[in-house]
Amino acid sequence: MAIDFFSDYTMTIDGRAASASATFEAFNPATEEVIAVVPDASRDQLEAAVAAAKKAFPAWSALPLVERQAYVARIGDAIEAHAEDFMRLLTLEQGKARAGAEWEIGGSAIWCREIAKQELAPHMAEQSDMRSVETRRVPLGVIGGITPWNFPVLLAIWKIAPALVAGNTMVLKPSPWTPLCTLKLGEIVRDILPPGILNVVSGGNDLGAWLTQHPDIRKISFTGSTETGRRIMASCSGNLKRITLELGGNDPAIVLPDVDIEKTAKELFWAAFQNSAQFCVAAKRLYIHEDIYDELADALVAYARTVKVGDGAEQGTDLGPIQNKMQFEKLKDLLADAKAAGNRFLLGGEVADGPGYFVPITIVDNPPEDSRVVAEEAFGPVLPLLKFNDIEDVIARANNTEYGLAASVWTKDVTKGRAIAERIEAGTVWINEIHSFSPHVAFGGHKQSGIGIENALEGLAEYTNSQTIVTNVPAI
Ligand code: NAD
Repeated sequence: MAIDFFSDYTMTIDGRAASASATFEAFNPATEEVIAVVPDASRDQLEAAVAAAKKAFPAWSALPLVERQAYVARIGDAIEAHAEDFMRLLTLEQGKARAGAEWEIGGSAIWCREIAKQELAPHMAEQSDMRSVETRRVPLGVIGGITPWNFPVLLAIWKIAPALVAGNTMVLKPSPWTPLCTLKLGEIVRDILPPGILNVVSGGNDLGAWLTQHPDIRKISFTGSTETGRRIMASCSGNLKRITLELGGNDPAIVLPDVDIEKTAKELFWAAFQNSAQFCVAAKRLYIHEDIYDELADALVAYARTVKVGDGAEQGTDLGPIQNKMQFEKLKDLLADAKAAGNRFLLGGEVADGPGYFVPITIVDNPPEDSRVVAEEAFGPVLPLLKFNDIEDVIARANNTEYGLAASVWTKDVTKGRAIAERIEAGTVWINEIHSFSPHVAFGGHKQSGIGIENALEGLAEYTNSQTIVTNVPAI
């Protein structure tokens, strides 16, 4: 049956559509217009979703791995088959421009297919005539997935694909700011998976908290802010749930004086402003060697002036609005603080009147290291440029943060770049490129940017327990 992506948003509980007596509204961030009415799950509905996932678990986990892999690959095929609708809806609810929507939806299909090829082989620790010791991986049970609003589809797939391949079932809760694509994903999956394997429920932060407290949920896989991550970890301690937390970042980019200025300026622009800088791994502090500071700053500003900010649905738009009012207000406050502190803007800084949550591309000229625009994760298009002249000093400044998600180093001297990268406290350090992700490459934060890994076999293993079976063969 054809699915209408632009109306009738229902949750998926036990393979069936579920509406709710309470509802909330979803908005287009480019116009502030209401675009949908969304079910607000009751506690009973959450109970039903968890019960369905629990009931489905024994049969699902008993399926041969190749069958589960085939199901997950089919989810990828279905995303591709509905790609145009997904991209339009993603732009409508999230705000991102076409190229960003293509990257996210295309990536979601690829992730399903690639994770569906992964397998955790058992490890024989000992094998003799007398005894065998085998460590294998077994699924956990019901997983609770909680996702943010910046990449709602891809980050959900990063959880769904490995959780299901590993033999778990799931209850997934999208952000209340961007629930629509995820609800449609649930609807599509009703025709693919047996009931109860993937349940999708929508609601506010309370619904997330209920998931983290639920005794029948064995693991929470969360992507979102560090602040919420702390709450989730505390709540999950109730029954010692497993957790994977992918949290915030304040990623440094270190630019050495030997770079090609024009080329690097363009790359750094996108490193910082992709997805309107609502990107956990956006370059958020740009440390530029003093010898090239002025020239690179000029090139960045010149390139930024060629980039079009606007409604993501309009042709020619490169960067869309801020996704929601809460984040928009936070950014306005950050800009007001920067202004009050006397920070100098090389570009932007003034938020025009609406409609739409638009923040202009803003570049701040060498603010003090302890200013809010440097110390906080802006999660929006406000980028501080910072001067350095000493490698030891810049490494110390790059590491002087509670975060440790990612970083980048830019230089023609890759040996030097590598030596710097090794000293950065972050889960991923890119040299002369940025934001290359793969289903086969481990991703996770150091320090308060997270706990655990997503992607690669390491990420798959996080959806399992280790079980060792020791067999002592009796002598006949
Ligand atoms: P958020 O923490 O406000 O919300 C994320 C999700 O958690 C939402 O679904 C929300 O409803 C839910 N939630 C809120 N309170 C909860 C609670 N007490 N218990 C359970 N669930 C709760 O984050 P956000 O504003 O949606 O996303 C932006 C943040 O996400 C940024 O800090 C960004 O850096 C981070 N992020 C990290 C990664 C990564 O992979 N490390 C990726 C994308 C975004």
